[in-house]
Amino acid sequence: MIKAENVTFSYSDDLSVPVLDNVSITVADGSFVAVLGHNGSGKSTLAKHFNAILLPSGGKVYVFGQDTAKKNALLDVRKKVGMVFQNPDNQIVATVVEEDVAFGLENLGVPSDEMHERVGKALDAVQMSEFAKSAPHNLSGGQKQRVAIAGIIAMRPRCIVLDEPTAMLDPSGRREIMKTIKTLNKDMGITVVLITHYMDEAAQADRVIVMDSGKVCMDDCPKNIFTRREELLALGLDVPQVTELMHRLREKGLRVREDIIYTDECIEELVSLLEEKYD
Ligand code: ADP
Repeated sequence: MIKAENVTFSYSDDLSVPVLDNVSITVADGSFVAVLGHNGSGKSTLAKHFNAILLPSGGKVYVFGQDTAKKNALLDVRKKVGMVFQNPDNQIVATVVEEDVAFGLENLGVPSDEMHERVGKALDAVQMSEFAKSAPHNLSGGQKQRVAIAGIIAMRPRCIVLDEPTAMLDPSGRREIMKTIKTLNKDMGITVVLITHYMDEAAQADRVIVMDSGKVCMDDCPKNIFTRREELLALGLDVPQVTELMHRLREKGLRVREDIIYTDECIEELVSLLEEKYD
């Protein structure tokens, strides 16, 4: 659904040190892709190419086959790919939640009956219906971010690109957003591109892309990515905490699996280790 072909980008006319350097990736319809990379590696710049906020200096980006650089493709690309940013306060424009969610639809000229229905469904999808009449400034960070996501879903995009949507949230807000993202992807079939610097969030995707100095340097399923611990550390990244725990236990001579990236499988592994010991 999204295809970047040899994309090069620079914020200035100087292309000698590009921010994106010959990036080629595809994002399949219905997939959940996480993008990792240290600060300044080009993640946000790449994400902004996916809904034509930025256009490549060299190469092409296609969204459902449409070249994003074509002027007449812009509206269609923006309808198909919605973006959610880090700071919910910058994305909320109205003083009542349901009006905020309706804002994008008003701009698209959606008739009021349909608008009402879409706003209701979008708030339902992010479990914020009970706050429809609330003032956004009274909500928690996680709730505000869910309202921002509802505003995007109401426009019925095929894909949502989220640029560090949990960076400003507390742990419970982060959990709410990850749960919402998974519902959108698994239950509603919306393609998700999640930029994050949290390894445990990336582990929940189907696929992880790692960027470094404007290049894609790894592109694989989470298990295969997070077993490359040394390479990730060298790139200034980490592995999920449970993966690190297993690594440390192996260093102490315990025979535990090295491909563990989820808490549940870590618990199972530790339980079977204890059972072996006490059998
Ligand atoms: P990341 O999302 O991985 O932190 P960014 O895509 O935000 O990386 O930034 C990549 C590089 O582009 C950085 O060196 C950053 O300073 C630079 N950059 C980002 N936005 C702008 C901008 N609006 N103008 C000029 N340089 C920018």
